[in-house]
Amino acid sequence: MKYQIYSLHNYRKIPQIDRLSEDDLRNIDVVGHVLPFKTNNYVVNELIDWDNLHEDPIFILNFPQRDMLKPEDFKKMASVLDRTNDKVEIKKTANEIRHKLNPHPAGQVHNVPELNGQKLPGIQHKYDETMLFFPTQGQTCHAYCTFCFRWPQFTGMDDLKFAMNQIDYVIEYLKIHPEITDILFTGGDPMVMKASILDQYISRLLEADIPHLQNIRIGSKSLTFWPYRYLTDSDADDILRVFEKVTKAGKSLAFMAHFNHYRELETEAVAKAISRIRNTGAQIRTQSPLLNHINANGEVWSTMWKKQVNMGLIPYYMFVARDTGAQEYFGVSLARAWDIFRSAYTKVSGICRTVRGPSMSCTPGKVRIIGVSEVKGEKVFVCEFIQGRNSDWVGRPFFAKYDPRALWMDDLKPAFGQEEFFFEEDLARMLL
Ligand SMILES: *Cc1c(COP(=O)(O)O)cnc(C)c1O
Ligand code: SF4
Repeated sequence: MKYQIYSLHNYRKIPQIDRLSEDDLRNIDVVGHVLPFKTNNYVVNELIDWDNLHEDPIFILNFPQRDMLKPEDFKKMASVLDRTNDKVEIKKTANEIRHKLNPHPAGQVHNVPELNGQKLPGIQHKYDETMLFFPTQGQTCHAYCTFCFRWPQFTGMDDLKFAMNQIDYVIEYLKIHPEITDILFTGGDPMVMKASILDQYISRLLEADIPHLQNIRIGSKSLTFWPYRYLTDSDADDILRVFEKVTKAGKSLAFMAHFNHYRELETEAVAKAISRIRNTGAQIRTQSPLLNHINANGEVWSTMWKKQVNMGLIPYYMFVARDTGAQEYFGVSLARAWDIFRSAYTKVSGICRTVRGPSMSCTPGKVRIIGVSEVKGEKVFVCEFIQGRNSDWVGRPFFAKYDPRALWMDDLKPAFGQEEFFFEEDLARMLL
């Protein structure tokens, strides 16, 4: 299958475009100048339900919608586009709006490690066991999610990018950090890389023979956005051989697949791609944020998890949508997130309950809402760390005042009249 990209400058050539109204097109033009917009022929022809596009989760996942911008920002962008064709002015306005959307949430700038006094901007090392690696060639995706928080990487704001190509530094860093068992290739989407490039990275890692490095993970949305990566791309077989190389070397290859809706699992192409990946000995785990307008419904999640387990995938995380980008459009309150999680979790068998959530990836770590409860007459959220900047915080229940409107960690206050959460003093010290 030939890969055909559609973005702001050519999306009107999509064969189904006459299904959109003039207003729809205008909204895409305005919002698409601020948020990243890219889709492709697989998404357009095999995933989107064009008969129901205003409610279609896949359409909303890829195509900018009017309400993804605040009304005043929409107006501002629209009026600039009406007034001028001047690229510089259009870009300036777009960047002003983008900067208000909190491009680097969760203290990511604090996670850039150093080697011999030199910053390593293509690496993040926040949790002891797992290091993130952003290969330079993997900083884009086969299509863009409208809710993505990584959009500074795609929209040309170069000074905010995390990227490097120095696998040598990665190896040197790994060697002096015996606590690291996992390297996670991330992006963007590392599976946009050519097999030959991925092969170089992986082969170098394997040749470096680092015994504490046990798991090579690849975070990818390619199974949703371009399953032909593993079927008909000219280097599809080579990619699978790279995966096999990992498992044959006695390391585990954990493919962390990003799926937002069970509809992404329904095509013949994705089923075949999953089966080919699994045949290499790789394991596929799945994760997704909880998103208003896309999957904010327990039924969607229970159906998705069941289908995943049925196809040999392992449900892993349900994330709370981050405090960035179009959060007002996609955001789901923590109270509702827990409700949706529970309603789905109670409807699936134990083998789907490998999933954890709803979880917020915030500055101190990954914090999960265990539930809502009442202790001595005070209504509280019961929370716990499933990952922590300090691993000693993990698995200790703690309590926040119940607030039905809270969307994110920053909105939570300690329960029982306490001044701060148990980890805050420690965290402040770590961030100095
Ligand atoms: C989620 C995450 C990881 C991986 O955590 P696991 O619990 O091991 O899956 C690593 N680094 C960062 C920054 C993360 O957000
Ligand atoms: S696939 Fe991931 S990195 Fe790419 S646009 Fe979607 S959320 Fe962002």
